[in-house]
Order: sequence, then C-alpha cells, then structure tokens
Amino acid sequence: MKILVINCGSSSLKYQLIDSDTEAVLAKGLCERIGIDGSNIAHQRAGGEKVKEMADMPDHTAAVKLVIEKLTDPEVGVIGSLSEIDAVGHRVVHGGESFSGSVLVDDEVIKGIEACSDLAPLHNPANLIGIRSCQEIMPGVPMAVVFDTAFHQTMPEKAYLYGLPYEYYQKYKIRRYGFHGTSHDFVSKRAAEILGKDRKDLRIIVCHLGNGASVSAVAYGKSVDTSMGLTPLEGLIMGTRSGDMDPAIVSFLAQKEGLDAAQVIDICNKKSGVLGLSGGASSDFRDLVEAAQNGNELAKNALEAYAYRVGKYIGAYTAAMNGVDVIAFTAGVGENNAEVRALIGQYIGYLGTNIDPEKNKLRGEEVILSDEGAKVVTMVVPTNEELAIARETVRLLNR
Ligand code: AMP
Repeated sequence: MKILVINCGSSSLKYQLIDSDTEAVLAKGLCERIGIDGSNIAHQRAGGEKVKEMADMPDHTAAVKLVIEKLTDPEVGVIGSLSEIDAVGHRVVHGGESFSGSVLVDDEVIKGIEACSDLAPLHNPANLIGIRSCQEIMPGVPMAVVFDTAFHQTMPEKAYLYGLPYEYYQKYKIRRYGFHGTSHDFVSKRAAEILGKDRKDLRIIVCHLGNGASVSAVAYGKSVDTSMGLTPLEGLIMGTRSGDMDPAIVSFLAQKEGLDAAQVIDICNKKSGVLGLSGGASSDFRDLVEAAQNGNELAKNALEAYAYRVGKYIGAYTAAMNGVDVIAFTAGVGENNAEVRALIGQYIGYLGTNIDPEKNKLRGEEVILSDEGAKVVTMVVPTNEELAIARETVRLLNR
C-alpha cells in the first residue's frame, strides 16, 4: 500500500509517501510559510535531487493540492495519479484522555480532536486543518490519526497527577500527558528487537533528544512515566524551552519585567533552554559544541546543565521502574551528537552502562554503545515517526 504521511503545523506541512510493503520512502517534502508571503515547497523523490520552489499557498488545502501535484508530476513525481494513494496517516499532537491509541478518522474523531484543542492550542487546530484539507482533496481515501500523547496514556495516576487541588484535574483535565509518544513507542520496540528480546520483558528508558526533548520510562512494554507534562514545556532543558522550573518564577519575572503570564511562558518556550543558558549563542547543539570547544564558557555550561538534567531523569526513571535494562538515545542530538552523549554518560556509569568511547563516536545509526556483558545496555536507535505512522495506518486498515 502507498501511505501518505502528513505532519501539519500552523504554517507548514511535512509529508512522506511510504510504500508500506517495502517500508521505503518514495518521496518526501516540506511546504513552508503557508498563508504567509514567500510560501515555498521543497520536494524530493527517492534517489532524486531536492527541488525547492516558491509557490502560492494561501491555505493548507492549496498546500495539499500542490503536494499531490508534485507526487504525480511526470518529472519529480512517483505515482501516476491520486488514486494510487491508499490511505493518509496524520500526526496529531494532543489526544487528551480521549485517545489512548491511533484511530481511523470519522466525524466523532474530528470532534474529539477539537475537544482537545484547548490543551494544544498551537498544534491541534493546525493538525485538524491538515485532515480537513486532505478530506477535501482526497474524498473517500481512508485516513488515520496517530497521537503524540497516546503511548503515554498507560501512565499510572501517581505519575500523571500534579500536586494541585484535585478539582482542577476533574474540571480542566490538568495532568501530565507526555509527548513524542510515537517515537518513544517506536524506539523502545526497536531497541528490544535489536537485542532479540521481547519488549514485555524489559525496562527501557528512551531519551528522545531533539530540539524538543523528553525521556520516558517504558516498563515491560508500557509507558509508566515521561518528562513532558500538560504541554511540551516540562521536563528536560531543550533547545529553546526551559523544562522544569519553580512555577513561582512566572509571577516573579512578570512583576520584575512588567510582563503578563503568557509573555513569561513565551520566554520559557522560545528564549530559554540551551539558547537562553548560553546567552543566546545557539539552540542548535552542533553550534553549541563548537562554541564550547572554542572556549565559550556559557555554551559549555549550557551543555553541562543539559546533560545533568538528562542524567537526573535517567536516575529518576530507574527508580520508577525499580531498575533499568536498556537506555536508548534517539532524535537529532541523541542519534548524532557524540559529545552530548558522552556528557550524559558521566551520570549513568554507576548503573553499569560500560559505554565504549569508540562506539560512542558513531553517528546516526543503530549501535550498541555498551561493552558486551554490561549490566545496562546503552544504545542508539534512530527514530522514524513517519514510518511508525504509516505502520499504524496500515494496521488500522487491516483490522
Ligand atoms: P531534531 O529536533 O530531532 O531534528 O534535532 C535537532 C538537533 O539535533 C539540533 O540541535 C542539531 O544540532 C542536532 N543534530 C542534528 N544532526 C546532528 C549531527 N550530525 N551532529 C550533531 N548534532 C546534530
């Protein structure tokens, strides 16, 4: 089957056309600045050059139309017509407590996603626009939605409740949800496969370290804790997000700087993390490592603080699962940044990880970092959220 995987943001649309039989990516691309001046598309067929062009995209429906044009284009396309697309899989950020797994789209599902929109006001409405646009352009083509939060719906109450008056959970569903679920699920499954074991027999800590970052505790196949919360702001220090901090800082800073709460939260989301800590040097870990190597003390401190926080979460999740068998690193930083992995390594050696510094130099591939016989197997497992969405879509269609 040919599955079109769509990841829609408020002004962007990422896509991949995946052949689910071979799991090959046939073509992929990105539409940017949708609804804004200067909208453009970058499209690439497997084995071909990336072609980037300016194209008028006043809305997401126009973007979906253009994606179909590219996919069916005689030169850069990979299919003869729209009818070759068997199904569409959409990434949706927030499924609240209503969705503990992926589902096929129908009117009820759309209403359910709408109902979760106040929990993810930047993301869910954009995801819905993507679904509606595809429905308009591809009527009758089955569609599935895969939620970032779904995998973490197995967390126990003790892990997801905040220490707030219980009525706020009852009235507003304020609780920890967690994100990157598709990645934590994919990587923990794959880690077990690589080791030739059943995920149900393992306690796995997945460190999804990208620009956004989260850690999860996957005990015997189920997520039992994860570092992101009601929103993706909680937990690790990230590229531009603060992660955990004393909530009293919000009113303190608001008063000092003459801001309102929303403005302070905006700073916590966009100007903090390693970007903020490094005095604005960069949110990109490649730049930070380089800056630190060139003697930038703030960049060095930012990396230290980042690694320390990851190390603390690994310790916490080892306690949450009463032990750990596997630690898996994934996403941009986790897969590629040997320097950052080495810094984190300083805080997990006591577990018996025995990381081989030579193996740790490898980038972007599946690799076991620990020496043979290590008590806790540390490994790199590249994530592939698009493939996971395509697999889920096929699974739902075949049910
Ligand atoms: P993501 O959000 O998963 O795309 O991750 C983005 C982060 O991964 C950025 O901070 C990049 O610096 C980092 N990253 C991506 N590729 C590399 C690489 N080859 N070496 C080091 N860091 C990388």
